[in-house]
Amino acid sequence: MMDDKEVIKERLSFFPKLYDLIQIFGPMSEEELLEKKGTCLLDEECVKKNSCENCVAIRSLAENKTFSKYDEHEGKIINMTATPVMEGGKKYVVELFREMSEEDLQYAGILQKDSLKQIERLNYELMHDPLTGAYNRRYLEEKIVFAVLDAIRKKEKFAIVMADIDFFKKVNDKYGHQAGDSVLRTVAATIQNVLTSNNGVLIRYGGEEFLMCIPEREVGSTYEIIEKLRKEIEQISICFEEQKINVTASFGIVSVEKMIETEESCTNKLIQIADSNLYQAKCKGRNIIVASVYTDELCVEGR
Ligand code: GH3
Ligand code: MG
Ligand code: MG
Repeated sequence: MMDDKEVIKERLSFFPKLYDLIQIFGPMSEEELLEKKGTCLLDEECVKKNSCENCVAIRSLAENKTFSKYDEHEGKIINMTATPVMEGGKKYVVELFREMSEEDLQYAGILQKDSLKQIERLNYELMHDPLTGAYNRRYLEEKIVFAVLDAIRKKEKFAIVMADIDFFKKVNDKYGHQAGDSVLRTVAATIQNVLTSNNGVLIRYGGEEFLMCIPEREVGSTYEIIEKLRKEIEQISICFEEQKINVTASFGIVSVEKMIETEESCTNKLIQIADSNLYQAKCKGRNIIVASVYTDELCVEGR
């Protein structure tokens, strides 16, 4: 008796020239899929690499569609296609690997001589915001949502922070959009600097809104980090065409002490709390931090 994976392989053997290597993951229940999302099927360490940040296997399972990407393996350019397959009532994902020929690469607009760099760039661009270099919404939805869930399950302490530049529209109106872009880049770089030394992750959430995810030593310790950041932003003078631009930002923090639920929606719930704290900071006059602590079902008002 052949098992499900052998059956799938047997069927695909009808197309021997379609791939050089085949890999099958699964079967995976919805629960297992939820645990695996945001990580790598092969090796969790892979998440640190750009190409693995763009994991087509998990995306294929999660969205029930076929996805493909280019990757590098031992100096060769590989086309990798991941497709979901149902067999024996269970869900699998089939990954087909094929070495790209010179013609393929030409057709894809990738030049042979620096194709490795271009592949890296493609995988990087998929997960990053081009203006600021921060992670983008796709990274939030495919990685951070599940990294947060993982932290909740492991009872690790962390905080979600929403930041928004104050009166940013006025910067654009007064100095022009290019100056505004320059401000965005500088503010993002300042936040990134602080986050790097605190093992945090930065995402450009929207126009001039940034989301941060920061591990905490103790519940609420993020406040001091953000207070330092707030002062730093207040003090920078951004030079644009011989003009000096000053901005401030407001922040909403939610620190997680204890969360009972462990569903995908937890991250959104925390983002909503951080966002409503940010809204309060705006109402209180801007250039202000509003923080609270989430514990069990309660969100305790903080400072
Ligand atoms: P508040 O203090 O209430 O946040 O006021 P605000 O002016 O910062 O907020 P508002 O939402 O009114 O304006 C945000 C502006 O951000 C409007 C939009 O044109 C600008 N913006 C969004 N994305 C970009 C971008 O990529 N570059 C530039 N230059 N401006 C952007
Ligand atoms: Mg704003
Ligand atoms: Mg805004």
